[in-house]
Amino acid sequence: MRVGIAGAGMAGLSCAGGLAAAGHAPVLFDKGRGPGGRMSTRRVEVGGRTLTFDHGAQYMTARDPAFVAQVAAWEAQGVVARWPAAGPDAWVGTPGMSAPVRALAAEHDVRWTTRVEALRLDANGWTLDGAETEPFDAVVIALPAEQAAPLLAPHYPAFATTAAASRTLPCWTAMAVFAEPLAGVPDVVKDAGPIGWAARDGAKPGRAGMESWVIQAPPDWSQEHLEETPDTIAPTLLALFAQHLGVNLPHPVHLAAHRWRFARSRPPADAPGALWDGDGRLGICGDWLLAPRVEAAWLSGRRLASLMAS
Ligand SMILES: Cc1cc2nc3c(=O)[nH]c(=O)nc-3n(C[C@H](O)[C@H](O)[C@H](O)COP(=O)(O)OP(=O)(O)OC[C@H]3O[C@@H](n4cnc5c(N)ncnc54)[C@H](O)[C@@H]3O)c2cc1C
Repeated sequence: MRVGIAGAGMAGLSCAGGLAAAGHAPVLFDKGRGPGGRMSTRRVEVGGRTLTFDHGAQYMTARDPAFVAQVAAWEAQGVVARWPAAGPDAWVGTPGMSAPVRALAAEHDVRWTTRVEALRLDANGWTLDGAETEPFDAVVIALPAEQAAPLLAPHYPAFATTAAASRTLPCWTAMAVFAEPLAGVPDVVKDAGPIGWAARDGAKPGRAGMESWVIQAPPDWSQEHLEETPDTIAPTLLALFAQHLGVNLPHPVHLAAHRWRFARSRPPADAPGALWDGDGRLGICGDWLLAPRVEAAWLSGRRLASLMAS
């Protein structure tokens, strides 16, 4: 089958890998400029140096044997490394979280900066509006639930209702760089009131080694402040971090914020992992069909590929 996949995040690319291994021909379309999705790495220029921030997913764990094998392959490729600061089974992409997604994307035909606006089905197969290609034999939706719902609604109202009922929680992320190391502050601070997570990003393996920090607010705080601007959120989160540490932080040499409207999915315990309609030849995968983690996104993609191949 020629399969058109909307979304080249971890789930879409994992599905593409499973499909290609089974002899199918996937083509992926992603609205982003490059690989990452919610595992994106942000690049900034600071004092003439290029710095990167993991402003989405911070690390990943690998527990399922199939994903453990995938992570071992990435480790051999040099695109992931262990990061003990986050836990004994924590892995990060190197030199940034997007690295394993980039490695997967390199194996496939991915069309970046291509937003799929709608799906059309006729006698020739599925066409992805916005993607300008020949029709496909099958189509896969590998997007966050809220972004999948409008594509599904005209064709699969029941799937669309499931997607629309799933609410992905937001996350405000601040990124700060300091001229000097923050003495006495651990590399990871977790669940500290309005600071859901803070990490010395520059201390992750393979980074440039500058004193760069990623500070993420928990979902309820992010929701409450969702419509504020990055210019107000960045200093607010930094001040809350300083308050938690009980110190006066030095003035950062770089400070910015990013709003993730759709960060953490909340699948029910009996979530199916992936959905496939063999008659209509439409499949759905993504973390929201399994669990809110990188590993689950990968497993969901593989589960869909095996449903499609059976
Ligand atoms: C702030 C934050 C912190 C996180 N922390 C962790 C963590 O520490 N550990 C962990 O395991 N997980 C974490 N996660 C979750 C993890 O990032 C996700 O579970 C995983 O990356 C989801 O992969 P996915 O492929 O399902 O979705 P995505 O990565 O969202 O991929 C979907 C892709 O679809 C594209 N797209 C969207 N709409 C369209 C369209 N209409 N047409 C074409 N393309 C489209 C997007 O550009 C994107 O590339 C975090 C996420 C965020 C945002």
